[in-house]
Amino acid sequence: MDLGIAGKRALVCASSKGLGRGCAAALAAEGVNLVMNARGADALEETAAAIRAAHGVEVVTIAADITTEEGRTQVLAAAGDVDILVNNAGGPPPGMWTDWARDDFIAALDANMLAPIALIKALVPGMIDRGWGRVVNITSQSVKSPIPVLGLSNAARAGLTGYVAGTSRQVAGKGVVINNLLPGIHDTDRATALDGGVAKADGITPAEARTKREGTIPAGRYGTAAEFGAACAFLCSQYAGFIVGQNLLLDGGAVNATL
Ligand code: NAP
Repeated sequence: MDLGIAGKRALVCASSKGLGRGCAAALAAEGVNLVMNARGADALEETAAAIRAAHGVEVVTIAADITTEEGRTQVLAAAGDVDILVNNAGGPPPGMWTDWARDDFIAALDANMLAPIALIKALVPGMIDRGWGRVVNITSQSVKSPIPVLGLSNAARAGLTGYVAGTSRQVAGKGVVINNLLPGIHDTDRATALDGGVAKADGITPAEARTKREGTIPAGRYGTAAEFGAACAFLCSQYAGFIVGQNLLLDGGAVNATL
């Protein structure tokens, strides 16, 4: 299926690895030119080179922290006008509800709520002027079904979800659609790190922690970044213009809910 977005330009934040990389690669496979970002320059350059070689698209890279105003200023200056924005950043650390002080909440809000909102505010006006745009925010399954040890994530991502619910309806008439993609467990460095934490806490090996977690997923496995990227590319496609303010869960059936 041709998604009808060849030649468009996308900013994919936090995309040297994991789910962001999956989204960047899937867009590139559709002929979308990319602006890619991550903090670490080495992995970013490696990934950009692999995507250029595989798909022949233009890839601009900016090594910067997307959760800071300074980082976003650098990214936005290099990005210029974009048709597609994929918001992403690292997730907050796990812990207990008693662990977190005001500064921890501010950091989580900066990374997982205020950074994507700032980029939406910076880039959506240009999309509206040009009459076409797509925004996908990578959030989490925790928006629908809380993950108790990820209280900072549960809280910050719920705030972004509320903002998107209203804002997406304000811009839909201008040709711009904003949606959220909610990952359940996917096979990335983040999942490996979380498995390591569970292994330590439960006195088991990381492999045992993974097997235990796979047993809680009806699909019986972790998702892949490629599957996630394909869903992202569809939400950025010409066919997604009537999908507004939705929260698409990719979790192998892990959230046991009818809707
Ligand atoms: P990952 O494999 O650890 O990759 C994270 C990517 O983001 C890397 O490219 C990293 O590069 C970049 N990054 C992190 N912080 C950044 C920052 N401040 N500024 C710019 N780039 C940054 O993580 P992932 O599994 O793809 O997860 C992506 C998001 O989905 C996270 O918010 C995570 O919490 C959420 N999520 C993931 C899962 C899962 O199962 N994987 C499930 C639910 C939610 P640098 O470190 O070099 O910056």
